[in-house]
Amino acid sequence: MKERVYNFSAGPAVLPEEVLKEAQENLYSYPGVGMSVMEMSHRSKEFNDIFVTAQNDLRKLLDIPDNYKILFLQGGATLQFSMVPLNLMPPKNKADYINTGAWSKKAIKEAKRVGEVNIAASSEDVSFTRIPKQNELNLSPDASYVHFTSNNTIFGTEFKTEPEVGNVPLVCDASSDILHKKIDVSKYALIYAGAQKNMGPAGATLVIIRDDMLERSSDNLHTYLNYKIHVDKNSLYNTPPCFTVYVIGLVYKWLLNMGGLDEMYKRNLEKAHLLYDFIDQSDGYYKGTAEKEDRSLMNVTFRMPNEELEKKFIAEATENGFVGLKGHRSVGGLRASIYNAFPKSGVEALVEFMKDFKAKN
Ligand SMILES: *Cc1c(COP(=O)(O)O)cnc(C)c1O
Repeated sequence: MKERVYNFSAGPAVLPEEVLKEAQENLYSYPGVGMSVMEMSHRSKEFNDIFVTAQNDLRKLLDIPDNYKILFLQGGATLQFSMVPLNLMPPKNKADYINTGAWSKKAIKEAKRVGEVNIAASSEDVSFTRIPKQNELNLSPDASYVHFTSNNTIFGTEFKTEPEVGNVPLVCDASSDILHKKIDVSKYALIYAGAQKNMGPAGATLVIIRDDMLERSSDNLHTYLNYKIHVDKNSLYNTPPCFTVYVIGLVYKWLLNMGGLDEMYKRNLEKAHLLYDFIDQSDGYYKGTAEKEDRSLMNVTFRMPNEELEKKFIAEATENGFVGLKGHRSVGGLRASIYNAFPKSGVEALVEFMKDFKAKN
């Protein structure tokens, strides 16, 4: 077996090789400190440097305005499904959600425990193969916020631009496409993303929150669930996921060194087009599942003529070092996740493998 395979897993997912090597080099003893980052006090000056540098590098990457705070929390994106409504819904207790897939539905489920949820639009009637258009959105002017999922990891669809929501605060679950391109953060009130898809190892969740949202967090909330407390303590109310944040920081440096998010986006477009173009030119042997205009640049979902062939494809691909191509268990089919850290050479190699498989089967 090769030392490293091509990892198409949806998450936890591939990390940049340079990042893994640097983490490995410093694992035993962090330069100038004489201990591993895993062993450092989260209150030490050395760890504080790592933490603040990660925050500052993210601010550079996304041009995050000063009136936004950056948190690294635990509990995954899943805990944000609860924290968002608990903090931001009152006192109106009414929010709009756009339902574009399994993760949106989970977010909706938790929001309903707090207040009234208006489904502003849904693509469930077409098995989430498309993104609702702006003119389909049935928004409530008095909603506390509008929530959407920017990239639907399971269904392979992605918003190309954020929905227009007027003056209502916009909240986004960006777990599977954060940092794949530059976005205008000032259009959002809150962005959250689990780290383990496009940003680092599992264990940390990024929250970018606009200052004025903090006024909504009630003192009656449980401490860990209160954004205001986390902001007041700069994510150090309790022990943060120190090592994960360190590796996330290395990923930010890697992105900056590469030329930032415009360069990253260029590469992501190239990679995705390579794969989608091949799929579209395979005379229907491989078939993309998402509407063309809504296709995700991160998760390429497709089907083959029958499930027998799909099984065979996955088995042979795995043998040949293409790992993690099985679609999500709830939808079947195939999925190639080609996040920021996934190399173009891996997409080229997959296309060659797919050509070959088609010729033989
Ligand atoms: C994976 C994923 C989640 C869940 O993330 P956890 O960190 O496992 O809680 C939520 N939203 C989206 C879009 C995801 O892809």
